[in-house]
Amino acid sequence: MVFKNPNPMCKEELFEGALAQMRKAYAYVDLTDNVKEVLEHTKEMLQANLLVRMDSGSLKVFPAIRVRYNDELGPTKGGIRFHPNVSVDEVKSLAFWMTMKCAVVNLPYGGGKGGVQVDPKRLSAREIESLARAYIKAFADFIGPDKDIPAPDVYTNATIMGWMMDEYNDITRKQNPAVITGKPLNLGGSKGRNVATSLGGYYIFKEACERLDLGKGITIAIQGFGNAGMHMAKLLANEGYRVVAVSDSKGAVYNPVGLDIAHLIEHKQKRRKEGEFSSISVCDNCREGDKKITNEELLELKVDVLIPAALENVITRKNADKIKAKLVIELANGPTATEADHILSKKGIVVVPDILANAGGVVVSYFEWVQNKAGFYWEEQKVFDRLRAKMTRAFEEVYLESEKHKIDLRTSAYVVALKRIMEAIEAKGRHPYD
Ligand code: NAD
Repeated sequence: MVFKNPNPMCKEELFEGALAQMRKAYAYVDLTDNVKEVLEHTKEMLQANLLVRMDSGSLKVFPAIRVRYNDELGPTKGGIRFHPNVSVDEVKSLAFWMTMKCAVVNLPYGGGKGGVQVDPKRLSAREIESLARAYIKAFADFIGPDKDIPAPDVYTNATIMGWMMDEYNDITRKQNPAVITGKPLNLGGSKGRNVATSLGGYYIFKEACERLDLGKGITIAIQGFGNAGMHMAKLLANEGYRVVAVSDSKGAVYNPVGLDIAHLIEHKQKRRKEGEFSSISVCDNCREGDKKITNEELLELKVDVLIPAALENVITRKNADKIKAKLVIELANGPTATEADHILSKKGIVVVPDILANAGGVVVSYFEWVQNKAGFYWEEQKVFDRLRAKMTRAFEEVYLESEKHKIDLRTSAYVVALKRIMEAIEAKGRHPYD
């Protein structure tokens, strides 16, 4: 099966770049060659062509994939992405990062990821539901509540997770709420899951600002206005921070005095039907003082904090030198190319890596899975308190490791993750078979 139109920015380079990030940490952990052998290879992956009956009556094929990268710490966990640029390399890289992320925040999970090569904005709600159900039909034997647990990612959401769980239940002829997380509340979702990625990122942002002595007067730019970016913008604005730029796939809007985030959210969500994706852009409806700029210009703005919250590989060798922020919080997965990391670090820019900064989503997904298995549901405040405890503890561990070895936060996050995965591999007692 062939994935058409792979993102030219992420052929084999993305996965190689992800491995290079991990290899940088090898110098600080006493890893055996066996552990390296395990962690540098994908455990398993399955590809399928999904057949969907379109509203026109014709059948259309959508290439799809699910990757289980590593399950040493527990069942694999990771989202499903619907995007025209989904490629094998991208999903493999995302599954690798999930492995590291779950280890950094100390969850009993390995890493997985899935994707479908599709532009969901061109599909009706009925076609998206058929595609979601076709995905589960194809991968039902590959996933499972104790094997591989999907969740939402780019251009998938709670509604789609609900359809997917329903399809899985039909196939297995029983109720399995724990097979998928990020579900609607009335189908076993967790309170707080919709804001979990941004709230987790916010806790990390607060910790990092404290260390860098950045106060309330700072300026912030956010790339991406979906689940991660929009909720982050809302949180920051509600807390009195000045968000001066936000963007989506169509472009960015900038106002040095600060944007009216509540107005932008209201505008973006207009005319959006359940299950369908908005084609309205944040830059369609500029107010007085707002200026329309490009996504590239947003990244290079003179702001204190930059939050990439859209796609991977947006800070590259080409623009890293032009980044002016003091602090980068990676709410997206893989926004900084490996060669760019070095340039940012030389400029003294502190980068809080994706595998720590955006782990709030998988932490509350874990809470949802625990609640599903127990059949007992928590109040929202309990979810938030437990999320805060997990995130601040992980930040502290990563920060201490970076101070100890005088290394950047990305490398120290990998050190924390590698130690946990290594301990699990060794605890399984495979040495006699070396
Ligand atoms: P989403 O589909 O809700 O939103 C994606 C946003 O990115 C949209 O605003 C879209 O317009 C924008 N976008 C798409 N292409 C773009 C481009 N070329 N330039 C600029 N913006 C573009 O997705 P999301 O869930 O918010 O995910 C965003 C990032 O956060 C991804 O990297 C995802 O893997 C990561 N992430 C999400 C979660 C989660 O729980 N949703 C958890 C961890 C990490």
